[in-house]
Amino acid sequence: MSVRNMAAFLVSSALLLTGKVKKACKKAHDGQYIISVYFHSPDKKLFTSCVKWFLKNGFTFLSLDDIENIANGKKTFPGSGVVFTVDDGWRSNKENIAAVANEYKVPVAIFASTQPIEKDGAYWWSYIGKAKNDGLISQSIRDLKKVPNEERVAILEKVKETVALPREALTVEELKEISATPYVHIGSHTVTHPILSQCPDTTSAFELTESKRKLESWLNKKVNHFAYPNGEFRQREIDILKKSGYTLAFTTVPDYLTPESLQKPFELPRFDVLENISFTENICRMTGAWFNRKLL
Ligand SMILES: [Zn+2]
Repeated sequence: MSVRNMAAFLVSSALLLTGKVKKACKKAHDGQYIISVYFHSPDKKLFTSCVKWFLKNGFTFLSLDDIENIANGKKTFPGSGVVFTVDDGWRSNKENIAAVANEYKVPVAIFASTQPIEKDGAYWWSYIGKAKNDGLISQSIRDLKKVPNEERVAILEKVKETVALPREALTVEELKEISATPYVHIGSHTVTHPILSQCPDTTSAFELTESKRKLESWLNKKVNHFAYPNGEFRQREIDILKKSGYTLAFTTVPDYLTPESLQKPFELPRFDVLENISFTENICRMTGAWFNRKLL
């Protein structure tokens, strides 16, 4: 365990032992907020542990349709609610998320980027990370998140000429397969997973509308829910999403879903689960105790 993880484990253990996690859960049970959590590519053990932890602690898993109905006032704001979402559309999600969701009968929403699924097989940051590692380029993934989209795409296209990667995204067939199972819901996460705030208007509009169109044609279902890549968005994206028929969008702001935050259905917050930290720390992250540790 790294020094960082060890220190975080000690802080998390203290949050558990001193009742901060319990307190955070109690407020959820009392209906003050819904716990909103997101994953990327957890292994089966981590995802199963998270599902089991919430079930053991008396939570009810909500679907995105439930969230939409609560936001619309068609359903009352519930106590003990938790919602699980997953970003990108990793290939491992089929076995590690979809299979577990169906086994435990808990709804989960996967936000998929269509181009890695349909074409590249790998995500842009994996190409850049490999090229940087191999000394082919000087820019890091972080650097390329800060440049205009055209600049990032130009470097990426050049890198793709020489760097080959194994498939890390679901295939179209696999996405169709898991979408047809009862507890998996698919949402959009753009076409190419750009940093939307770095895109010109036409690119942003294309990323939001084309991913919806493509997913709907593959899955033969309405795709109305969205997650912003890297959590980056502006008012422009909210306007395009609304105009294109989306009804909900998730950010990466670490917070609970409250009656107030549901008034802004295109800016829904979520707590992240990390893949290389202790489960104790993840419990604190998921329940918000980690982020509110001074306030509770
Ligand atoms: Zn993403």
